[in-house]
Amino acid sequence: MKVGILKEIKSAENRVSMTPSGVETMLANGHEVMVEQSAGVGSGFSDEAYRAAGAKIVDTPSEIYGIADMVMHVKEPQPSEYDMVREGQIVFTYFHFAPDEQLTRAFVKNKSVAIAYETVEGPKGDLPLLTPMSEVAGRMSMQEGAKYLERFYGGRGLLLGGVTGVAPATVVVIGGGVVGTNAAQMACGLGAKVYLLDMNLDRLRYLSEIMPKNCFPMMSSPTLLRELVVEADVVIGAILVAGTKAPKLVTREMLKSMKRGAVIVDVAIDQGGCFETSKATTHAEPVYEVDGVIHYCVANMPGAVPVTSTMALTNATLPYAVEIANKGWKKSALENHGIKTGLNIVYGKVTYKGVADAFGLDY
Ligand code: NAD
Repeated sequence: MKVGILKEIKSAENRVSMTPSGVETMLANGHEVMVEQSAGVGSGFSDEAYRAAGAKIVDTPSEIYGIADMVMHVKEPQPSEYDMVREGQIVFTYFHFAPDEQLTRAFVKNKSVAIAYETVEGPKGDLPLLTPMSEVAGRMSMQEGAKYLERFYGGRGLLLGGVTGVAPATVVVIGGGVVGTNAAQMACGLGAKVYLLDMNLDRLRYLSEIMPKNCFPMMSSPTLLRELVVEADVVIGAILVAGTKAPKLVTREMLKSMKRGAVIVDVAIDQGGCFETSKATTHAEPVYEVDGVIHYCVANMPGAVPVTSTMALTNATLPYAVEIANKGWKKSALENHGIKTGLNIVYGKVTYKGVADAFGLDY
């Protein structure tokens, strides 16, 4: 198969959908890889590195769309690309069709085979191509929390782990899934006192077994949260309620009871956020203050660390890309449940219920 790696053109996106090492793997499986010039630069991979791995560097996206059997992106194709996509061409990327009618209708019209990273399911119903970005955001949330606790960033002037004879900071993580567990692990590693809240008892049991002694997994409730935010120096919002907007668990009233210079990091902001006072921010202006509490609410946190994010993402996507290239989309979808659940729009027909429902399209 001819595989095309496109340069990301969505603003502030520096990731790339395949590393030079991924190119080598593709070639070893008998495929050809074309990479758009400077596609990897934002993630630290030069055109030369791709050439050395055996890729052909091409100048424009239209050349790739014109020749490739499968094209790969990180973000959804942008309007300038819609008409370049060919009938029957496989497009493998994060699409997030449901909130984007223009994109959905464009992919119904162009009759390609759209396989979305975000709906590829793992054997336990997990989402293996979303997990790596949650890991990045979770770990990063603690770095940001620690940074904004510093006085010159407006914080309380506390060191997360304290020092000998001085108490550490208190961290409250709401949601003990991928983001929350990664955030809590980082905070524990730095020596903070960490409360990790979830509503799922089985999950809490598991967390009690695996987390270190300075982590206290607890059943989430409005009462407990009201008590803990008063004590907290950093609060991380890391909940996910599948298919809905995040509930506002920390109200304005609760915020008023928090310490001045405390920090909240609302990772769940891409689902609307779980603090009443959250509103999405950007890497250019990541924070704002309400009632003396610093709010960090960046919706695409992994974008700040494209080198790590690219490696984490491509580690997860490459095996699927290789299988699709080896077998073609039809056979790979028949044999691999994950690829089947990734199919969103195929030859003009919406094949993913959530997308069809969003716009009243046939499914
Ligand atoms: P996940 O499904 O692994 O974990 C979510 C956890 O929240 C689950 O364990 C669930 O039981 C728990 N939960 C649900 N309601 C709760 C409540 N009321 N109180 C306490 N816990 C509750 O999801 P995840 O991968 O960890 O993602 C968490 C959030 O982070 C999602 O909204 C996701 O979209 C977001 N996210 C944001 C970024 C970013 O850049 N901002 C990046 C990655 C993920």
